[in-house]
Amino acid sequence: MVQLGDESVCLKASVRSKSEAIRKVGELLAQSGHIETGYVDSMMRREKQANTYLGNGIAIPHGQPQDRDLIRKTGIAVVQIPDGVEWNPGERVCLVVGIAAKSDEHLQILTNLTHVLDDKATVEQLTHTDDPEAIIERLTRQSAGAAAENRKSANTSLSPQDWGPFVDLTIEGDAGLHARPATVFATIAKSFKAEIQVHHGAAIANGKSLIALLKLGVEPGSTLRVRARGQDAAQALQALQAAVKAGLEAAEAAATEPAPPRPQLVLETEAIAGMAASPGLAIAPLYAYKQDRFRYSDTANNPGNEAHRLRAAVDAAKAELADVYQTVKDRSGAGKAAIFQAHQELLDDPELLATAIAMLPPNRSAPAVWQDTIEERAKSLATLNDPLLASRAADIRDVGQRVLKRLADHVERGTALPDYPVILMADDLTPSDTASFDPDNIQGFCTAKGGATSHTAIMAQSLNIPAVVGAGTTVLDLVPGKEAVLDGDRGKLYPHPSDADLAKARLAEQERRTRHDVEWHTRYQPALTSDGHRIEVVANIGTPEDAEQAINAGGEGVGLLRTEFLFLNRLAPPTEAEQFAAYHQITQVLNGLPLTIRTLDIGGDKVVPYLKQPKEDNPFLGLRGVRFCFEQPELFVTQLRAILRAASAGYVRVMFPMIATLEDLRQAKGIVESVRSQLNAPPIEIGMMVEVPSAVLLAPEFAQEVDFFSVGTNDLTQYLLAMDRGHPVLAKHADALHPAVLRAIYQTVQAAKQYDKWVGVCGGVASDPLGALLLAGLGVQELSLSLPSIPAVKAQLRAQSLKRMQKLAQQALTCGTAAEVRQL
Ligand code: PEP
Ligand code: MG
Repeated sequence: MVQLGDESVCLKASVRSKSEAIRKVGELLAQSGHIETGYVDSMMRREKQANTYLGNGIAIPHGQPQDRDLIRKTGIAVVQIPDGVEWNPGERVCLVVGIAAKSDEHLQILTNLTHVLDDKATVEQLTHTDDPEAIIERLTRQSAGAAAENRKSANTSLSPQDWGPFVDLTIEGDAGLHARPATVFATIAKSFKAEIQVHHGAAIANGKSLIALLKLGVEPGSTLRVRARGQDAAQALQALQAAVKAGLEAAEAAATEPAPPRPQLVLETEAIAGMAASPGLAIAPLYAYKQDRFRYSDTANNPGNEAHRLRAAVDAAKAELADVYQTVKDRSGAGKAAIFQAHQELLDDPELLATAIAMLPPNRSAPAVWQDTIEERAKSLATLNDPLLASRAADIRDVGQRVLKRLADHVERGTALPDYPVILMADDLTPSDTASFDPDNIQGFCTAKGGATSHTAIMAQSLNIPAVVGAGTTVLDLVPGKEAVLDGDRGKLYPHPSDADLAKARLAEQERRTRHDVEWHTRYQPALTSDGHRIEVVANIGTPEDAEQAINAGGEGVGLLRTEFLFLNRLAPPTEAEQFAAYHQITQVLNGLPLTIRTLDIGGDKVVPYLKQPKEDNPFLGLRGVRFCFEQPELFVTQLRAILRAASAGYVRVMFPMIATLEDLRQAKGIVESVRSQLNAPPIEIGMMVEVPSAVLLAPEFAQEVDFFSVGTNDLTQYLLAMDRGHPVLAKHADALHPAVLRAIYQTVQAAKQYDKWVGVCGGVASDPLGALLLAGLGVQELSLSLPSIPAVKAQLRAQSLKRMQKLAQQALTCGTAAEVRQL
């Protein structure tokens, strides 16, 4: 039991500030031999991270968990301040109970304190008493047995009946659920809308109440049953489970441990600029890489045998792809390997083989017709504006080469892959090339061609290989062997770094690794700002495999499922059953976390040949998104049926792209309602993308008719600035951090607030660390990110206060240009 002697109680203290009060109670602890004096600074630091006001005029300052070695023995001290001192704006403290806790002995004091808290008369008496014994007696008189009684008498008025999911959590560590961990627990719990109950034996506490949690008197090794009820119950349980698993104090320490600053690598020598395809820094000698080339004659020696040769080569390539899929899956997970499954499907396309075979007569060779067929397909995709679809051309060519190498008369060998660390330079790389790279040797790569959203880029990200693509043909003229620096974050290759550049780059790389480790280890913690506001961080995905990756990266659900992915690379639209299977599979992976399904957003630059889209002069202003679906009601109804059916298995929301008028929204909602009543399905939340200027201007009207908004900054920027997002010259000026876009988002948030609705952002800017801070500061509640950005953005948000982000956002709103915003 903790001893509290006369010498540790200071009566009638007169202090002017909270820090003076903390120093005073710290001095008492030091004088009574409980702590080294350094612990007082730790108490001050701790208070800055999270304040220790307990309620009813009592505060319990204590040090940071990592400074426990400055505690000599567990103890407490009390400073009585009859006039009180302001602790927080509007909150005064009259009893300061300093705690130095090596283990759990002080739990009983805390338990007692929580009972004092409930009793205003006792607090009043202890605030003015002249007798230190009165304080000592009140804080230490209860025996362990009485403490157990307290636990039983903790808030039992809440009934466990009708509660939904629960988790059983064991409180590890040597101090039980004392003040610090209980504060972490309650703060996380409070950041969710769900009600949270904590059961400890027969006692039940409200998980959001620090006092109620302390009253449970949870000792080390105890198992708590935590129940949650409400919309985000599953997320709340997941977050609490992750925090308890990490050790609540460790979770706190990690969450408050500032990640090292993001290195801004600025080198003195000239750089070749390309597109950032995979983040990271590489420092290694340059290495020129050339793929194998296949030689073959155009005419066949034995025309009757060519169709058979072609079929056999396709079958062999499929078998090889199955092996590659398995290897990549074992190494990087199913999500990353999925591309090789897609490659197998491309080869399964009967039309591809039939087209090639039809070109054989009278005497063309199998490799020649195969190459022509592949090239024709690839070219029709490559000319599309959408970088995502254009990058599928690379996939088709990749698959084509796999077959071609089996048909060629002669293989002109390219360069072998090096068995030592290099930065590889190539004209272009296929996903298969990239998948075969050993990250220990290929430290980074830079290609003359290629796009940042290609599968080569995705593969590089999964292998953690920094990459720059589309850097132009100068890359091919560089002299191999020279040490270079590749900055995958900013899309730059420095081919001639100075010694100072190399030293700078090495330092930046070291800092980068440390920061990345911290971000990765804390990825499951909610993005709780230092002043206790939670920003929901969810993921943008396209496939069920992505959903798994999203959870693994710390995503708290899916904010945007781009369903058009299900419609690509096939000959007919997916059936209701196929769509249902995909949506259902994702709900199973998410296990209660929200899934926002966007209805088909085809049109504009997204062309799906079998959907027979009309030729338009201005496709971006034409039948795109929901407008296209209105023209193809059967397609729309089929998708909505699949979505509404999947909603019975998980937490599913639906949202519509390209809503420009209230009529659009009403029509779409009307169709959902009629499908819903046909299916007799329960209602689901309905939201809309805000990506057209009219949606911003009419946000107050829209807000009355939707459950949420999701801002598509990619399109909103292009439509606000009238700059095609894929335009080779203009695209780089279409910056979503343009003040015009930020003002539009702010206007949307204000309108939503007026009607108690929430706003998310699923455009690319949410994945930009600066963008994420500004959006949170503008009042955006949910950020939907590309998968690799999740851990970093969550860490970044945790390191900031909402207040600071709000200030930054308000400053950004007054800027005149995107460059000024970025300067902030
Ligand atoms: C957007 O426009 O910001 C968006 C998320 O949608 P997409 O990029 O799919 O058009
Ligand atoms: Mg869009």
